[in-house]
Amino acid sequence: MSIENNLDKIMASKSKNITLVAVTKHRTVDEIQRVVDYGILDLGENRVQELLDKYDKVKGEVRWHLIGHLQTNKVKYIIDKVHLIHSVDSLKLAKEINLQGVKHKIVMKILIQVNVSGEESKFGININEIESFLDSIKDFEGLSVQGFMTMAPYTENIEETRYVFRNLHDFCDKIKSKQSLYTNVDINFLSMGMTNDYPIAIEEGSNLVRIGRGIFV
Ligand SMILES: *Cc1c(COP(=O)(O)O)cnc(C)c1O
Repeated sequence: MSIENNLDKIMASKSKNITLVAVTKHRTVDEIQRVVDYGILDLGENRVQELLDKYDKVKGEVRWHLIGHLQTNKVKYIIDKVHLIHSVDSLKLAKEINLQGVKHKIVMKILIQVNVSGEESKFGININEIESFLDSIKDFEGLSVQGFMTMAPYTENIEETRYVFRNLHDFCDKIKSKQSLYTNVDINFLSMGMTNDYPIAIEEGSNLVRIGRGIFV
């Protein structure tokens, strides 16, 4: 299978209002350029250094997404380069994004990474702590909370995955219904689904899927 064939299949399997973020970690600039030339302009990297290395080399109107755990001291390198940060998982990180956003006169779009299953090994904020998190950042003018992101636990059992996605979708709807209480919350995105589980994520309401291996392998 070629990159283009894989993209044909993925694009045919989803509706237009679902955005594909092509996850380009560990891929060469030539491989990434084929994805962009095909017409996929949303690219995801999970490391700051790798994103910076590729930033000037990939040609086109690319929107870069930072999807992996982000260290606070690296925010300054990407604040003016990324379209959306999917992986905000602590108050410390939100504070720094706000600081850098204000400094650069940017309202940085962010998603809060949620640890739905409560696995200790996972990054993300527990679902029952999100509302107090939103309260603690409600005065931050340098960022805008655009939604939520999660990674399902690795499991052979599809139904376990489905419940993670369904819970986050329900929670996302709940927050959306009260977003007028906040000046910096504007829910537009639910980032769920990778190569293994994106069809289920879409069934459960994802509108932003992050696919790597399914494109490049
Ligand atoms: C690598 C990665 C993906 C893509 O995973 P695939 O299994 O290659 O589709 C999605 N999201 C995050 C946060 C990743 O690090």
